[in-house]
Amino acid sequence: MYMDYDASTPRALATEAVHAGREDLAALGLHAPPLDLSTTYPSYDIRAEAARIDEFATTGARLDGPPVYARLDNPTTARFEDALARLEGTDSAVAFASGMAALTAVLLVRASLGLRHVVAVRPLYGCSDHLLNAGLLGTEVTWTDPAGIAEAIRPDTGLVMVETPANPTLAEVDIRAIAHACGSVPLLVDNTFATPVLQRPVEEGARIVLHSATKYLGGHGDVMGGVVACDEEFARGLRQVRFATGGVLHPLAGYLLLRGLSTLPVRVRAASVTAAELVRRLATDPRVARVHYPRVGGAMVSFEVYGDPHDVIAGVRLITPAVSLGSVDTLIQHPASISHRIVAEGDRRSAGVSDRLLRMSVGLEDVEDLWRDLTQALSAAPAGTPRTTDGSASPSRRAVR
Ligand SMILES: *Cc1c(COP(=O)(O)O)cnc(C)c1O
Repeated sequence: MYMDYDASTPRALATEAVHAGREDLAALGLHAPPLDLSTTYPSYDIRAEAARIDEFATTGARLDGPPVYARLDNPTTARFEDALARLEGTDSAVAFASGMAALTAVLLVRASLGLRHVVAVRPLYGCSDHLLNAGLLGTEVTWTDPAGIAEAIRPDTGLVMVETPANPTLAEVDIRAIAHACGSVPLLVDNTFATPVLQRPVEEGARIVLHSATKYLGGHGDVMGGVVACDEEFARGLRQVRFATGGVLHPLAGYLLLRGLSTLPVRVRAASVTAAELVRRLATDPRVARVHYPRVGGAMVSFEVYGDPHDVIAGVRLITPAVSLGSVDTLIQHPASISHRIVAEGDRRSAGVSDRLLRMSVGLEDVEDLWRDLTQALSAAPAGTPRTTDGSASPSRRAVR
């Protein structure tokens, strides 16, 4: 017999990951979620349809019943949104075609209210930095450190944005302290690296949580998407912007992301154990100048080498030299050449992105196989004069917490 989901019953994250967004399936006589690829939906009652369109246009509330057109909503994507909201502990979530489309929608919601100023802390993912810094959407950014946030806020500030752990240095900020400094200005935390398995920013005072779903949420390197988890009021603005600008997630991507969520806790925890072991070994390796690994843990590791980072990238065999992260297989890349190339050199360096920094996304392979590959690739990069590219003295060989 089918039992209704009772939201008052607390369920653990691992349980939510496999059940959220799927509560109605048994009543539908289904096990796997259905994939609805429709772009349009039939309706013989034009008056009722007009009323539903008016309702959506004025409120941004999700439509009752089938969507009118796929740019308004999609039932498969809605399952992914419901599940992600549950994992992040928010009322709602709104999905987009990519992480950048998601950030764009957030900025447009605020700009449409005349709040065009953004306060942000570096480093951010390279393209997020670029989107803000180039003012492509008519926004203006003030870069500051966490201690300077309160002072940087102006009457027209619409958003404070941080990434923690940050791409690519894994630098962390104190979300609670920053949320306090924001006052009534919404704080957006890009939670792509930690995922809700390791950190739930809304519980610490953030109003908006952004994910590049392309990374851990999808988890297999075969789907691109973005999602914003937030309160229902902000979600309504996002749905209106998504409808008007069209950055919708394809339903097949929604299907794959929902499937990805079901293994998210297992993948993140397993890869984190391997990452922590690789950090331990890298931290005592004489070819490695510095290792970055965040307190929150996770499967991302960054490290600076004494030798030429290009030789390390050219030397890997099991590990894939590629941008992106969060897949089941291990990837390594050179932020100064790839993920953060679009950030001006001076801005990159002052944000702590050294030219010798490598960023590795640890996957689910066996730790010994990964270490064997890493250590042979490091041997391909003979150490020159020990130094960091910012000219400072040789840093200590320790994991920077
Ligand atoms: C990749 C990434 C993004 C951008 O997401 P896309 O899905 O590539 O558009 C944003 N933030 C972080 C932290 C990322 O790693």
